[in-house]
Amino acid sequence: MDLILENNAYHYELEKLCRLFYPEEPIRVMEDGTLPPNPAPLTAVARVEKTGNSVQLKASLSEGKAVLRAERAYEPGLFGDQNPERQLAELLYGLLVQKTGFTPRWGILTGIRPVKMLHSLIDRWGQDKALQIFMDAYHVSRQKTRLALLTLHKESSILAQKKPNGFSLYIGIPFCPSRCAYCSFVSMSVEKTMQLIPDYVTCLCREIRAAGRVAKGLGLVLQAVYMGGGTPTTLSAEQMDAVLAAVQDSFDLSACREVTVEAGRPDTVTPEKLRGLRRRGVTRISINPQTMQEKVLQAIGRRHTVQQVLDAFAMAREAEFDNINMDLIAGLPLDTPETFADTVDRVCALGPESITVHTLALKRASRIFQQGEQRASGAMVAQMLDYAGQKLLSGGWQPYYLYRQTRILGGLENVGFAKPGFEDFYNTVIMDESQTILACGAGAGSKICAPDGRLTRVYNFKYPYEYITRHKEILERKEKVEQIYETFAHT
Ligand code: SF4
Repeated sequence: MDLILENNAYHYELEKLCRLFYPEEPIRVMEDGTLPPNPAPLTAVARVEKTGNSVQLKASLSEGKAVLRAERAYEPGLFGDQNPERQLAELLYGLLVQKTGFTPRWGILTGIRPVKMLHSLIDRWGQDKALQIFMDAYHVSRQKTRLALLTLHKESSILAQKKPNGFSLYIGIPFCPSRCAYCSFVSMSVEKTMQLIPDYVTCLCREIRAAGRVAKGLGLVLQAVYMGGGTPTTLSAEQMDAVLAAVQDSFDLSACREVTVEAGRPDTVTPEKLRGLRRRGVTRISINPQTMQEKVLQAIGRRHTVQQVLDAFAMAREAEFDNINMDLIAGLPLDTPETFADTVDRVCALGPESITVHTLALKRASRIFQQGEQRASGAMVAQMLDYAGQKLLSGGWQPYYLYRQTRILGGLENVGFAKPGFEDFYNTVIMDESQTILACGAGAGSKICAPDGRLTRVYNFKYPYEYITRHKEILERKEKVEQIYETFAHT
């Protein structure tokens, strides 16, 4: 698809809008208004025309001889618009809906944080008007508007627990037993990189201790710890114990309300590991079936069975975990609305304290994307999410964080649902980007949040090998965090 922009620089927003409708097509953007020498079969044009004091917005969508057109006068200040971007997007959106017959439930919103968007509208206009703008100006469906509002209320009550000098600690374990078909994460399959794990753990513990010194020096208060990946439980019980011991030795945990460890792959969970986690003060774990259908598990290369999910869950209860999350994905290959509903029912019947319902995102580096594997349509996925939402709400799980991803099927969303009191603080602050996160491990990125809300990011090396061999630089980057805080004090 070609997207031609004339007299405007709304490349970013308009390209993402086209991608909502054509998630798998390459989109070529011509910012100078010219047609490329070898035009794609489908061409979208978005034009801003200034004549005297008036501004006219024009959009067209053409495929061969079939052309759809729309235009309108730009109305400055309409719904708070400070430039023509939203109104031009709305114009093009109308043509894309007409052409494809597909109406995205989040309307013209392309950002990954629709709840944040609703929040800022409410701050500006008050709740009633903001909801109306969400639906009328951004074309968000009534159902998704309600979901965003429910999430916002829950999220606000969790964010109210942030402490002024609070922060969260993220620990990354980028290893997995095998690669899932939908994954583009830089996780190293254990078979190939087993020999890196001992050195990785040694370096990680060193970085955790360095982060502890930084936090102590700055007087920061640790509120949550999240060990994610990859699959942290790929490590042995001793290796996980060493990492958690480094956390306990390096930080004051007296104000820490949760310690989460992702035990994502049930085939990596053992009673010994779970008991070790409990002994080290882990309060929450995540056991992620993604699906409770054997054929779907096989299709996505998870290499574990439904029975292993059930066993891992029972083991976790046996080890006295009273806060368990389970992740599901809607839209996986071979799944249907009926089999997905069965998955939701079976997971609800287990009674985990939280359930996170993801929508499949077509990540470029994933096997699903690269091999063009068959998956559910956007309409089917919408049906799956509808079922999950109704079932979870009626079962007492409430939405508390929500985000979208690029190339997510149907332009839909990922939602964390939890029973009251079991919402994950870390997941909420990371979505809101309003608290410092110190991150340790390969591929991890610290986010340093200034008092005025500005974020500064400090990244670690992506790959475990680099992380180990250039570890001195990693430790130097931790010192940079102190310098960043000093600059806040002087600005
Ligand atoms: S468990 Fe998660 S990180 Fe690991 S391969 Fe699967 S999707 Fe990727």
